[in-house]
Amino acid sequence: MLQDKDRIFTNIYGMHDRSLKGAMARGHWDGTKDIIALGRDKIVEIMKASGLRGRGGAGFPTGLKWSFMPKESDGRPSYLVVNADESEPGTCKDREIMRNDPHTLIEGCLIASFAMQAHASYIYIRGEYIREREALQAAIDECYEAGLLGKNAAKSGWDFDLYLHHGAGAYICGEETALLESLEGRKGMPRMKPPFPAGAGLYGCPTTVNNVESIAVAPTILRRGAEWFAGFGRPNNAGTKLFAISGHVNNPCVVEEAMSIPFDELIERHCGGIRGGWDNLKAVIPGGSSVPMLPAAVMREGAIMDFDWLREQRSGLGTAAVIVMDQSTDIIKAIWRLSKFYKHESCGQCTPCREGTGWMMRVMDRLVKGEAEVSEIDMLLDVTKQVEGHTICALGDAAAWPIQGLVRHFRHEIEDRIRVKRGGTVEIAAE
Ligand code: NAD
Ligand code: SF4
Repeated sequence: MLQDKDRIFTNIYGMHDRSLKGAMARGHWDGTKDIIALGRDKIVEIMKASGLRGRGGAGFPTGLKWSFMPKESDGRPSYLVVNADESEPGTCKDREIMRNDPHTLIEGCLIASFAMQAHASYIYIRGEYIREREALQAAIDECYEAGLLGKNAAKSGWDFDLYLHHGAGAYICGEETALLESLEGRKGMPRMKPPFPAGAGLYGCPTTVNNVESIAVAPTILRRGAEWFAGFGRPNNAGTKLFAISGHVNNPCVVEEAMSIPFDELIERHCGGIRGGWDNLKAVIPGGSSVPMLPAAVMREGAIMDFDWLREQRSGLGTAAVIVMDQSTDIIKAIWRLSKFYKHESCGQCTPCREGTGWMMRVMDRLVKGEAEVSEIDMLLDVTKQVEGHTICALGDAAAWPIQGLVRHFRHEIEDRIRVKRGGTVEIAAE
């Protein structure tokens, strides 16, 4: 359980003054130039030791990612790009940082950029986040006025410019290489990796793309120490973490907690429990729409909210957007809705995703109405396997996994619906 004194985001609900003055009063921008004076190697070493894993969904170690940036310049500039295109269904944590605690992010941009020898950084913000971009731009402007950005930023000796770029509403632009394409003025279509952005990123230059939360926690880690941060959560799952909890809980919220918090504690402590009580819980999507759901039986007791435990259950922490569904949920329809979303958002560049998302959605259309043949359930699973791992970017996997989770845990509901639709005349083989 996280104590108030250990919260990094002290203004997540906007209770306090979010201006520079208010942020400074809460300890942000304190000794920034001394952190920078540690030097880039030391900063990267501390970030590695903290155990911070990327907060955008994939959980790649942040310090390690920073260390991929070239130590010596070959004449190309380096860039930090912050992925603020938060679009994963259920995910709304970075939004809270940008509108209520924007200085955590801006200070993080300066320090991280110095550590990667970048004199410029771009924050690519989701187009629909209008209030957030206004709050963030206002905070950037006051930092320029106060000398915290620009020439000799924060009197650190490092020249640094920060730009805010607005997206235009495409989910795929949250994929890091599609985001870079979009930033360069082209259609947001993912690039093949490798090369990873550290080798060839923005304008073909060394680039690190990090999530908002990953960057925003960095100054506090560097101020309070790697051991402090690593002290939360189980090994390999360190730190504090923002959870965005939505759906059938009594009080949906975004909250900072210690990593590895048990699921029941997270829900009881911050959400006032499950709507209608724990017996009414049906299923949980623990990490945003791209990870498979887990049934109540798995989540009710002993469930641990971290990367490794959820992966062991064949799901994932993803963006830590926890979507709770109670017994009133039409679970087939819920996944059908996600299939429609992924079909709509596929950029169409690679065949398994372009065609597969359409196939999956059309079979889900039939399943949701109970109009499919029972044999189509396995056919649908087969299609998900043809898509999974065979596409340029992770959208293909993200479209396949929720369906696999549905069939794994709720096949009986799909079969029942077909049986009822046919007046109970369909024989269904036991699994
Ligand atoms: P990924 O595993 O391919 O990469 C994660 C990060 O690590 C990337 O920055 C990548 O460049 C880097 N990386 C991975 N392997 C590397 C290597 N060998 N060398 C150098 N760098 C390496 O995952 P991804 O496609 O970036 O992200 C997928 C995740 O994004 C999903 O799990 C989902 O949870 C999440 N997601 C989040 C949102 C959101 O709104 N935050 C939206 C959609 C998806
Ligand atoms: Fe585009 Fe889908 Fe291929 Fe990703 S997997 S590049 S979204 S077609």
